[in-house]
Amino acid sequence: MANSQPQDRRGLPSVDAVMRSAAAQVAAARFGHLAVAGAVRLELAELRRNGLAIAADDAAALALARLETADAPRLKPVYNLSGTVLHTNLGRAVVAETAIAAAADAMRHAVALEYDLDAGRRGDRDDILRDLLRELTGAEDGTVVNNNAAAVLLVLNTLAKGREAVVSRGELIEIGGAFRMPEIMSRAGARLVEVGTTNRTHLKDYAEALGPKTGVLMKVHPSNYRIEGFTAEVAAASLAPLASRHGVPLIDDLGSGTLVDLVRFGLPHEPTVKQAVAAADIVTFSGDKLLGGPQAGFIVGRADLVARINKNPLKRALRIDKARLAALEATLKLYRDPDRLASRLPTLRLLTRPAADIAALARRLRPAMQERLGDGFTVDAMECESEIGSGALPRQTMPSAGLAIRPVARRGAGRVLADLSASLRRLPTPVIGRIENDGLILDLRCLDDEEKFMANIAALGAPRT
Ligand SMILES: *Cc1c(COP(=O)(O)O)cnc(C)c1O
Repeated sequence: MANSQPQDRRGLPSVDAVMRSAAAQVAAARFGHLAVAGAVRLELAELRRNGLAIAADDAAALALARLETADAPRLKPVYNLSGTVLHTNLGRAVVAETAIAAAADAMRHAVALEYDLDAGRRGDRDDILRDLLRELTGAEDGTVVNNNAAAVLLVLNTLAKGREAVVSRGELIEIGGAFRMPEIMSRAGARLVEVGTTNRTHLKDYAEALGPKTGVLMKVHPSNYRIEGFTAEVAAASLAPLASRHGVPLIDDLGSGTLVDLVRFGLPHEPTVKQAVAAADIVTFSGDKLLGGPQAGFIVGRADLVARINKNPLKRALRIDKARLAALEATLKLYRDPDRLASRLPTLRLLTRPAADIAALARRLRPAMQERLGDGFTVDAMECESEIGSGALPRQTMPSAGLAIRPVARRGAGRVLADLSASLRRLPTPVIGRIENDGLILDLRCLDDEEKFMANIAALGAPRT
């Protein structure tokens, strides 16, 4: 066997020789013999290709480094200093501690997921959230699926398959990725009937579109944009009598949806789920947007319609697991005590964080950050604006504060800034800011632990300027 010699002619040790080294023993204790041997083989092959020699211990160290890199989690915690609190690409809502504990418990144990403990027989997983959803939304019944996109798909497939879904042209939205209302409709088997114009839709537009083939009337919350100027839309409350006269369900896709009036927390008004339920027959909304829970999509409304939705075979394909159900239950329970909601629910806590607190944090961090980055950059505490994100209250911002980092030298400033952003993203806990005008802005609204943050920043290598 080629590997039985301790070294080959080019001064490379054999795999066996490397595996006998002390460093390889340490690596094997962590990652297992098989993985280490595989990594050693790859390292030796690379050295051989490059015509390099190496000692057995050093080869083992290289293999260990390779395994450590591969072992680092891909789904890494990051500092979201982007200024967007519910950032879809950064995982949206950070959930409450009670929700985390409930999810961990549910994962750790067998749970009565679909088991009726009173009767001692099979139960229904919808029973877990039903009463809470009724209580908090005023709806007759409710269920939950994988996300709001799934909720819309399931509702349309149940109530409008092979029929027409009437929607205003001003509400045919696309929400990032591939979620386009017209496409979801066609996948659901519903035929889209557009009414009105992009900027103005009237009650008579809906009335004229109604006919024997109509399956549903639908309202969609225009989440991520706003039509301004010469506009008209028909509120769900005004559509409801029309829908009911024709015996057609009125669906309201709220998108974010909130269970409490945000005005009481000093935030802009966003229609509550309760208000939507009062007008529409079925209301859908997300679990991980303003609600502040894990990814999920809620469907609440008329009991007869929810019953039909639950009988749709697609429901089974879109259902959620016990961990998320547990986290949702714990999250929803926090809404029973609105007085303490802002301290218990991270999403609301972050959204309502006073700008003065954030500004004080910026002033505290500024000198250390300046010192860390050196003479090549200026670091200023500044006022800025954060967004809620995930389509809630589009274009409404909240006063916030942060650090503005700018290269001193004008020449090549763009590249220097891009390099600095990249270095921040490579930190043990990556830091995500945003580049605006000629600076890197770190909005500190979502920064909780400043000591940990500065310890993390200390790992930043001397930046290139
Ligand atoms: C966000 C959103 C959706 C999709 O919800 P997910 O929970 O991301 O699947 C659907 N409709 C509207 C109006 C939205 O804002």
